[in-house]
Amino acid sequence: MKGGTVPTWLELLLTTQFFAICTNHLFSNRNECNLFCIDCEESKGAFCYYCRSDHHSTHRVIQCR
Ligand SMILES: [Zn+2]
Ligand SMILES: [Zn+2]
Repeated sequence: MKGGTVPTWLELLLTTQFFAICTNHLFSNRNECNLFCIDCEESKGAFCYYCRSDHHSTHRVIQCR
């Protein structure tokens, strides 16, 4: 174990479940949760395209493919 070198957001990123369907946007086209916000470490994990425009438009967001 090499502790202390991994940023918190990266740890969260690695434990985040991607490609689930967003429960807020069940009936939209681009509702796959493949985005992750670095600036919201307290966020609930991955979110979709629409959640990003609603809540993270000015944040640094990683897209997972
Ligand atoms: Zn959403
Ligand atoms: Zn954010």
